[in-house]
Amino acid sequence: MTRLFNDPAAFADEMTEGFVAAHGHRVRQVPGGVVRSTATPAGRVAVVVGGGSGHYPAFAGLVGPGLADGAVVGNVFASPSARQVATVARAADHGGGILLTYGNYAGDCLNFDAAQDDLRAAGLDVETVRVTDDIFSAPDAERDRRRGIAGDLVVFKVAGAAAAEGRGLAEVAALARRANDRTRTMGVAFSGCTLPGAAEPLFTVPGGRMAIGLGIHGEPGFAEQALPTADGLADLLVERLLVERPDKGDRAAVLLNGLGSVKHEELFVVYRRVAERLAGAGVTIVAPEVGELCTSFDMAGVSLTLAWLDADLERLWLAPADAAGFHRGRAALVPAAAQVEVAPKVEIEVPEADRESRDAAAVVVEVLHAMAVTIDAHADELGRIDAVAGDGDHGIGMRRGTGAAAAAARDAYDRGAGAGSLLTAAAQAWSDRAGGTSGALWGVALRSFGRTVGDHGRLDEETTARALRAAREAVCAAGGAEPGDKTMVDALIPLDLAFAATVRGGGAAVDAWDAAATAAEKAADNTRNLLPRKGRARPHAERSLGTPDAGAVSLSLVARTVHDVLRKVSS
Ligand code: ADP
Ligand code: MG
Repeated sequence: MTRLFNDPAAFADEMTEGFVAAHGHRVRQVPGGVVRSTATPAGRVAVVVGGGSGHYPAFAGLVGPGLADGAVVGNVFASPSARQVATVARAADHGGGILLTYGNYAGDCLNFDAAQDDLRAAGLDVETVRVTDDIFSAPDAERDRRRGIAGDLVVFKVAGAAAAEGRGLAEVAALARRANDRTRTMGVAFSGCTLPGAAEPLFTVPGGRMAIGLGIHGEPGFAEQALPTADGLADLLVERLLVERPDKGDRAAVLLNGLGSVKHEELFVVYRRVAERLAGAGVTIVAPEVGELCTSFDMAGVSLTLAWLDADLERLWLAPADAAGFHRGRAALVPAAAQVEVAPKVEIEVPEADRESRDAAAVVVEVLHAMAVTIDAHADELGRIDAVAGDGDHGIGMRRGTGAAAAAARDAYDRGAGAGSLLTAAAQAWSDRAGGTSGALWGVALRSFGRTVGDHGRLDEETTARALRAAREAVCAAGGAEPGDKTMVDALIPLDLAFAATVRGGGAAVDAWDAAATAAEKAADNTRNLLPRKGRARPHAERSLGTPDAGAVSLSLVARTVHDVLRKVSS
């Protein structure tokens, strides 16, 4: 149970404010996250980490000399938006290039990649290393599909220490990649976590049982067994991790991580046996860490990480670091002389629009407002569907996204925007506030829809059909999902086809939206028979059989809302 919060929607922001108030000698707040408040020599590589909130000390607690230069702070369990990533990266930059490194989750990949594109387009040197240490999320042969969990720390630490040695971006990235290649984690859970404001935990484990292969977002385990003794658990973790021991792996950094509500004392009892077993296997343990390194709110769980060291990795693992959540040796906290402030938010310019486009914009404002109302009414249900195999945040994300889009649209309208510019502003606000995979993809969809519509002329049936097709193609290109992968694409394609067919047959917009919504509803419902092959839900494919895809359901709700508004407007 998470007990202490004010408005659950403001939890991540308020947590960051308090964190910065407590650790102002290490970090300062910037839009989207935190960066060091300490001095770093010019020309160093900046290591920027990040992800959703709820994993302290990951990610903000890992900012400091010898470790990360900045952390992007997303909402609870939701990836930060591309704009957040880019803003934090710019604030963290020392002129030596930027390494983006984070756990491998669909939403984070989409948003960090988009930020990387923007930063590169602006002339900055940027590299990415995704952490893939969770051995249960995909087989060894498909390591690049594995999720990132507590092994994050090893990769970040190696990257931060390499940057502190003054190495160039390519070298820092190569060392971080090598650390990731040699790091493996296995986790177990005894009870699920409860997000701030939620009544129920994201998953439960029956009393006396233990889930194996947990995720750090309340993703349930892959198997279950009777709760072992502390020694029994240590044996299980060590034996399984030794299966992936590399050739010549005889020295290892060892992390025994509590996920949120397991006591340090319990961890030490387990660690006693872990150390014994590793010694028995001829492994020399280097600077072990026992404690909370990557948590999942109040989840009761434990993970063990083995990072197989070579000479470089060992030196970097042992190098000094001083972050709020991780200390090693002596790393000086020298206050930065002058804090370069991040440029204030630039208002999106409102280009000239004609009367017809302004009329269309007024309807779009109404549609976006109605979408926010619909999503608000269904947010709990969407969260519940997403929690079956994903991380339970789809309702929260959609609520934040539609709310922000509606407000941005209203603001753009008041400033004289036409339909296209208004949709672009709404797209930006949506992806910015929602974060997550769906936030990024809805941003992509609205942006290409808006670009096709433009700021001149009527938003007629043919234009809408072209805009829908553009949105569909952009979503497929950005997310890479194919029909049958159990994503929103499974509802988006039938929606687009039904709309286009009605328009071709001479149907009016209101009828085309009716047909589109009906097709999307049917398709969304049919996704209950599919196995997810993309996104957060993929590792828990079987569990989701019988439950439709959350993103497909929310899309169908949105389509029906568009139809309802148009019916009202046109009657
Ligand atoms: P996250 O997965 O980051 O937690 P949300 O919970 O908000 O984000 O959204 C989950 C939904 O996103 C899924 O139900 C699915 O419809 C959609 N989704 C996930 N990955 C993809 C993808 N690659 N392409 C299209 N849609 C996707
Ligand atoms: Mg989700």
